Amino acid sequence: MKKEYIKKRVVVKVGTHVLSENGKLCKKRFKALCKFLVNLSEKHEVILVSSAAIVSGYSRIKLDKSNLANRQALAAIGQPTLMRTYDKYFNEYGKLVAQILISGHNFDSRRATCKAKSAIDALLENGVIPIINENDATATEEIVFGDNDQLSSRVAYYFGADMLIILSDIDGYYDKDPRKYSDAKVKKIVNHIDPNELELPKTAGSEFGTGGIVTKLKAADYLLKNGKIMFMASGFDLSDIKSYMLKGIHKGGTLFCAKDNVCE
Ligand code: ADP
Repeated sequence: MKKEYIKKRVVVKVGTHVLSENGKLCKKRFKALCKFLVNLSEKHEVILVSSAAIVSGYSRIKLDKSNLANRQALAAIGQPTLMRTYDKYFNEYGKLVAQILISGHNFDSRRATCKAKSAIDALLENGVIPIINENDATATEEIVFGDNDQLSSRVAYYFGADMLIILSDIDGYYDKDPRKYSDAKVKKIVNHIDPNELELPKTAGSEFGTGGIVTKLKAADYLLKNGKIMFMASGFDLSDIKSYMLKGIHKGGTLFCAKDNVCE
């Protein structure tokens, strides 16, 4: 029987490693991502959370990344370049994009969240793709998310999305670290995250990345506890996510979904 198609609000988070190569933005992967998001936006409302401002800034000026103020400066320099790149590739499909910079304060109060949500709603109603990033230059340590995995889970929850898609440098959540164990296997469906899994050491895949698997699991845990779903798939090869989102076939990638939620 053919599944009934329901329009969803979907947040897509893409990591630094996917968007860059050798310290520069990777045009080939940007192009492929934008094409997929345009196709996805024909079926669903799409909000993008994009990393890669720092690497983008570093491609323009080589500041010392070990210093926090310099990293904030690099993010501020790189953000317009990042947006210009998205604008260029989405424009090829006649799609408008908008930049929203978020900080922890935006989720502090119901009033602040509602204001931000109204802006997102207005953009989506008009067929515009909101592109969100953390406002690194003004973020202070107490409120900083520090990684877009957890920011995107809050974005999904507070802005009324049904699901979060995380496009990473890895094609799913494995039963053990796949870079260390060759027999590691992708978990296809995860219903529950054990507290131990949230304590694993931080393992960011690239020099510019901040996340690692633990921040993705924290994002998934938050969404599972709030009745939402998350799908983690490769951002290098988009075939699994295309198959799941555009054809409804779960070939690869990990679906995080509470048992009582209708998953597939
Ligand atoms: P992104 O740049 O997309 O945010 P990261 O590179 O920060 O992603 O995090 C993903 C990395 O986490 C993988 O490339 C892998 O090296 C590591 N990792 C450690 N344990 C696991 C696991 N159990 N499943 C998947 N990836 C894992």
